[in-house]
Amino acid sequence: MRDTEFYEALLGLKDPWSVTKVKLDAAAGRVDIWVEDHSGVRWSCPECGKKASVYDHSDERVWRHLNTCQFGTYIHARLPRVRCPEHGVKQVSAPWAEPGSRFTVLFENRLIDILKECDVTGATHLTGTSWYEAWSVMEKAVQRGLSRKEKRIPACLGIDEKSFAKRHRYETVVCDLRKGTVEAVLDNRRQDSLEGYYSQFSQEELHGIQAIAMDMWDPYRAATKARVPGAEEKIVFDRFHVIRQVTEAVDQVRRHEHKLLMAQGEELLKGTKHLWLMNKEHIPEWRKEEFEEIRKMKLKTARAWAIKESLRRFWEYRYPKNAEKYFKRWYFWATHSRLKPIIKAAKTLKSHLSNIVTYFKHRITNAVTEGLNSKIQTIKQMACGFRNREHYRTAILFHCGGLDLYARVLSITGSSLDTTICSMAHAKV
Ligand SMILES: [Zn+2]
Repeated sequence: MRDTEFYEALLGLKDPWSVTKVKLDAAAGRVDIWVEDHSGVRWSCPECGKKASVYDHSDERVWRHLNTCQFGTYIHARLPRVRCPEHGVKQVSAPWAEPGSRFTVLFENRLIDILKECDVTGATHLTGTSWYEAWSVMEKAVQRGLSRKEKRIPACLGIDEKSFAKRHRYETVVCDLRKGTVEAVLDNRRQDSLEGYYSQFSQEELHGIQAIAMDMWDPYRAATKARVPGAEEKIVFDRFHVIRQVTEAVDQVRRHEHKLLMAQGEELLKGTKHLWLMNKEHIPEWRKEEFEEIRKMKLKTARAWAIKESLRRFWEYRYPKNAEKYFKRWYFWATHSRLKPIIKAAKTLKSHLSNIVTYFKHRITNAVTEGLNSKIQTIKQMACGFRNREHYRTAILFHCGGLDLYARVLSITGSSLDTTICSMAHAKV
């Protein structure tokens, strides 16, 4: 087999395209391949698909392709231009690359696979591309994915705040709870931003939302009430956030008590902060005995902790009426505890109770969102290369958006054989 035939087979090139020259430069570690189209072919106009003969050829262009063994491989070609009676002179696209790309489809998709596994800088090291090139592939992949994404609102939404960078800047992550994907990353956690998200959908589509898990954050609730029909029945305050309210109160009680004890030279609560923040079953084995000892000491912190732990049983009920009865008893206990932070938290929960009991109808939590959050956290840690917020958002959608990211050759390039080449390009790299 000749080298030209060998590369024709590797690239999946068929008539009217053929490889005319292959040059190996072992010292430079590269293979250059020249591809030409046969004369006499009638190509389709990329705009309308009508057949037209070749007008001329573009200047030579170069595409980076997958390596041949360890050698960087480049395709050179001059693309035919047709003169369409309606659209004028138009350049035919190459069957191995998307229009405007400097990479072949196979290379671009390989780079996407690599970007899924490591950060942008890592991908540049593995592929010999520049930061800008790798980033553009990522950005283009997300745009491609978004344009292919079906415009629909998920039946079960999760809305969660996420801090961005330092300085307490927030953004809102909207998730599809069933698919476990990020649907949108909004600029802040204001009511108008979330309303902006809802406003892309018709009344009928919004009507189709079944349930929305969210933080007890008033602007989220207000935005949802303003836009989503039947919102009151659909909003479920996420149980983990509800518990967190009380856990934070436990921590306040502990801090205050610890201070008072320390003033008396008593170090009982020293080094126990995290134990009180945990659920009972998460206390590490080696600290269980110590924890049981402190719990017996009739401390305010222990009492606050017991109140928090007992609230967790609320979500174990099957019927909302029973759960509500349980809450009433819990509320009585909490508000008679003489622990100010606990009383305050209990009152907050009571005022939000109608959207806490909706849990028993929909049984959704933001746990999926929390899982995505840890993924987003990883993205953030890899984010030394993210030069701005827009980049950060692109990376989240790239990794968590569940988008169809891969490049495909879509344009009418004039030969019925293109489909063969396209399917080659689709093949998993
Ligand atoms: Zn045309």
